[in-house]
Amino acid sequence: MTNWINRWEARLDVLNSAHRLRTRRLHTSVAPICFCDNDYLGLAHHPSLSDAWYQVGAEIPVGSAASPLVSGHYPTHQTLEERIAAWLGRDRALLFSSGFAANLGLAQTLLTPKTSVVQDRYNHASLIDGARLMRAPLKRYAHCDLASLEARLRSLSGPGVVWTDSVFSMDGTVAPLQQIAALCARYDALLAVDEAHGFGVMGPTGAGAVEAAGLSQDLVPVVMGTLGKAVGCQGAFVAGPSALIELLENDARTLIYSTAESPRMSAVTVAAIALMQAHPEWRLQLEDNVQYFRARACAEGIPLTDSKTAIQPIILGADARALAASQVLWTEGYWVSAIRPPTVPEGSARLRITLSARHRFDQIDGLIAALAKALEVASR
Ligand SMILES: *Cc1c(COP(=O)(O)O)cnc(C)c1O
Repeated sequence: MTNWINRWEARLDVLNSAHRLRTRRLHTSVAPICFCDNDYLGLAHHPSLSDAWYQVGAEIPVGSAASPLVSGHYPTHQTLEERIAAWLGRDRALLFSSGFAANLGLAQTLLTPKTSVVQDRYNHASLIDGARLMRAPLKRYAHCDLASLEARLRSLSGPGVVWTDSVFSMDGTVAPLQQIAALCARYDALLAVDEAHGFGVMGPTGAGAVEAAGLSQDLVPVVMGTLGKAVGCQGAFVAGPSALIELLENDARTLIYSTAESPRMSAVTVAAIALMQAHPEWRLQLEDNVQYFRARACAEGIPLTDSKTAIQPIILGADARALAASQVLWTEGYWVSAIRPPTVPEGSARLRITLSARHRFDQIDGLIAALAKALEVASR
């Protein structure tokens, strides 16, 4: 045993001296204002949503107590799936307990060692791990680069799947979905889109970047979205043709061998979706906040990328710089965590700032002032 503990401690020492040690910070009553979560519409903190939690009838249990295929599937899950499918204009939707589980389940259903998967280089870890788990040939193309994607598609000899984030989680860039869909049609590849950061915030009704691009189920047969980000709850879904959903129920091991999400949470998520659909002005407030943040940052000479979404990275390069800047922000009253490799490429450690509709302009002003100070300290 002591041998193992020594080895673990040695590994922790290596991480720590490389500025790569990760720890969790606790939400307390005195924690700073958070500018790094994915609660884009402020729903996770919304009083109507905690009210909804208490208004759910006692006949809806807290825990589902089983896999959806055994006895864990409740009417609240069914309603939630129907609402999501209707919103996205897809045949059906299927719930998973998390986005990570949904993506691994998709991989277990779509990929084989003979089915190549073509992925954007900046895709989320769960898409990469899905390909690895299934030993599917993985071809990665340069970030949002259509020529690079087409070269990968041209080299396919058998069936292929193109799998991409719609809004990239660490950069805030948006995939050129219309052009990607056209390439998939030309090369007869299946297109699967991860809307973790698009669902709820993009598109004319907030259904996501796929809606914003006007892409039907024919062009994007597989859409995955999460319920723990803009929706402010927990869990995830895959939406698409009925045959795909039925196949997932049979092949997705992360669904079959895992307890269904809380029935009570799914009832609250139905309420969250009703709120999102009734309050399009929250999306507009988010857009205003993003624009306000960018204008104020520009005026202060804070180096931004050209992201137009709620994800606004400030790329600092060295891990130690990002950590130092994050620490200054924390002491100034702003919670912005430092994102380091391997989450982002080597030499591109950053502050990943996220805006939310819940932020006020005066809070953004405060963040900008603290950022100017943090960048000053980090550049010493
Ligand atoms: C967060 C995220 C996931 C995982 O979703 P969880 O519900 O947090 O497990 C999947 N894909 C992308 C692009 C994400 O950002």
